[in-house]
Amino acid sequence: MVYSYTQISQYLRCPRSYRYRYLDGWREKETRAAMAFGRCFENALGAYFREEDCSAVLFKEWEAYRDSPFEFKKGETWDRLVHQGVHLLQRFAQDGRVRIQNLTWRFLRGYLDAIGEIDGVRCLIDWKTTKSRYPEGPEGLLSLDPQLICYSWITGIPEVALVVFVRKHAPEIQYLRARISEEQRQEFGRLVETTTNQIEAGHFNSHSGIRFPQNGCVSCSHLGLCLNNEQLIAAKLIRKPGASDLDWLDELVD
Ligand code: SF4
Repeated sequence: MVYSYTQISQYLRCPRSYRYRYLDGWREKETRAAMAFGRCFENALGAYFREEDCSAVLFKEWEAYRDSPFEFKKGETWDRLVHQGVHLLQRFAQDGRVRIQNLTWRFLRGYLDAIGEIDGVRCLIDWKTTKSRYPEGPEGLLSLDPQLICYSWITGIPEVALVVFVRKHAPEIQYLRARISEEQRQEFGRLVETTTNQIEAGHFNSHSGIRFPQNGCVSCSHLGLCLNNEQLIAAKLIRKPGASDLDWLDELVD
């Protein structure tokens, strides 16, 4: 069995949710425009690095969703997203700060977005598209990001980076770098081991992590199952028959 970062983090967030998703086959319906757009944008980035017309690729990919009944956040429309995306791609090309050696690398322990250089420093790169900026402080905050620690553990490479495409009125790109220590990688390896042991032992207790005013259940796609709310289940989930060992490959688009 191979586990993706998304699987491990979903188990750590709430084992019950993990069971619904990976064992019982309850998948979230794609209703959020931003999620589908993020995928189209990453494909356009791939086109940019292949020296193709990335704006045309973005438009073509996003066109496929023109009539989808997505939930758009306040102030978002199909057109606005594509315009923001094109501006971000232009800004990215103007900045010229990123060089890529390989896109979507497969390692024995998993996949990651890219390996390349930012401002001449070789690092692992993860792309994010978001509506609001990532916090940049206090200093060193990014080195605690579990996804980046996971990627560093996968590859053994200490230098990591997030390239954050911020979709706002004046589009902005953040180039955030961090260094992951050997100790952090070892610690993450132990976390993976204990988590996979728990999964394989069949421990799926609910662990919602509710602490007022944050309530992780509100944003959990499986809330309808926990509340026995048929309406919520029908709105948010679709059931695939069981889960397969290769399910985690779908997570690459996350
Ligand atoms: S709704 Fe809450 S308790 Fe239920 S699976 Fe989701 S996070 Fe866990």
